[in-house]
Amino acid sequence: MSRTQTMARSMRVISTNSEMSLACREAVKPIGLVPTMGALHAGHLSLVDRARADNLTVAVSIFVNPTQFGDKVDLEEYPRDLEGDLEMLRRHGVDLVYSPTVDEVYPEGFDTWINVGPLADKLEGLHRPGHFRGVATVVAKLFNVISPDRAYFGQKDGQQTVVIQKLVKDLDMDVEVVVMPTIREPDGLAMSSRNVQLSPEQRQAAPVVYHALCRAYMLWMDGERNGDALKAAAQAILQAESQVDRVDYVSVSDLTTLDELDIVEGRAMVSAALHMGSVRLIDNIVLE
Ligand code: AMP
Repeated sequence: MSRTQTMARSMRVISTNSEMSLACREAVKPIGLVPTMGALHAGHLSLVDRARADNLTVAVSIFVNPTQFGDKVDLEEYPRDLEGDLEMLRRHGVDLVYSPTVDEVYPEGFDTWINVGPLADKLEGLHRPGHFRGVATVVAKLFNVISPDRAYFGQKDGQQTVVIQKLVKDLDMDVEVVVMPTIREPDGLAMSSRNVQLSPEQRQAAPVVYHALCRAYMLWMDGERNGDALKAAAQAILQAESQVDRVDYVSVSDLTTLDELDIVEGRAMVSAALHMGSVRLIDNIVLE
């Protein structure tokens, strides 16, 4: 066994901009970045593993970004487990973890925001005003501190991947955006840090989101191209589940513009957002 194989990798955990930016300047390139809000699960780790395979340095950020939350209670109750996260990241061979405080990211007097335009006002943006302004701003800041060659995002947050790609293109950022498939529980529920907030009854019912999307997908596979018909089929399944308290939207949209489609011709995304008690679930399937 070679010396490098026997040596355990050491992982650095950094909490200031200046130290992180220095560590990244000195790191062997390419650098792959996985931005997260922590409370990590196998979905996050699939991004980390891919970043490990593609790059010589892997950086993971853990930051519960307050500016992308509309609701103070939601922000306060967002799951956090830094020690558990670090243990997982160590096991997955991560080199650098960036875990700044809110004051480090948004010091007093912080005043510059990134608005991504109409893409950010649809779907999630309609129901969470300001959400993507917070996401785009924090991602741009992470890119500035870390200067990654590649950044990894999950299809689970479908609109977010579109918004980030637009941000990178419009602001000439020299970062390759890699989008990875949604990782699911055996029953189909998309993994999410928020799933631990579901009651046992809600957790049992939660795969209904995936079932509803799959119903639309199956119809599309059978040749249905009418957007309203696909949405109605998914809606019917959600409505039949008593644990679903409110559906924010079921959408069939173009994968690039996120415009709602009357007729599905090219690549499209069927997506849904709903509430079970205080927990909001989102999911999507790409029609391709
Ligand atoms: P979050 O910590 O929820 O902000 O997620 C950090 C990154 O992990 C985002 O790019 C998410 O899209 C991605 N992610 C979250 N859940 C999953 C999942 N189930 N499968 C794949 N990627 C995911």
